[in-house]
Amino acid sequence: MEKRLLEPFLRGAEAAVHEISLAQAIWRQVEAEMARCGGRLLALDVSVGAFSGADPESLEFALGLLAGQSDWPEPQVRLRTEPLALVCRGCGAEFAVAGAALACPSCGSMDADPVRGTDVRLESLEVESDRGETDTSG
Ligand SMILES: [Zn+2]
Repeated sequence: MEKRLLEPFLRGAEAAVHEISLAQAIWRQVEAEMARCGGRLLALDVSVGAFSGADPESLEFALGLLAGQSDWPEPQVRLRTEPLALVCRGCGAEFAVAGAALACPSCGSMDADPVRGTDVRLESLEVESDRGETDTSG
């Protein structure tokens, strides 16, 4: 396989755009959730797939920018890296990918689909209610 020398350079330029659009998608979810439950946003938990192609630092930065323009300017942004996991098409076993070993540990098949670790997701929000009480949800 030939090394494509230009690729890292191009990816560097595109990376920020990629992370900004991911951050915008996450922030839209945050706003929808906050519109529903109200209160003050303290923190958000975001899972970043190891194979999502997203750079966690850029993503955190972009989320910070979006938060800065919102009603909740300084939430804590907690990013969690999610390792790649596959599901075997042969036997249905789910397994994590360690290094270059892509074969199913149960049946040895190389035919598997990724189930986790390929996307960026909003996992949860930490919210302080307007009354300063813990959320009792009703
Ligand atoms: Zn298998």
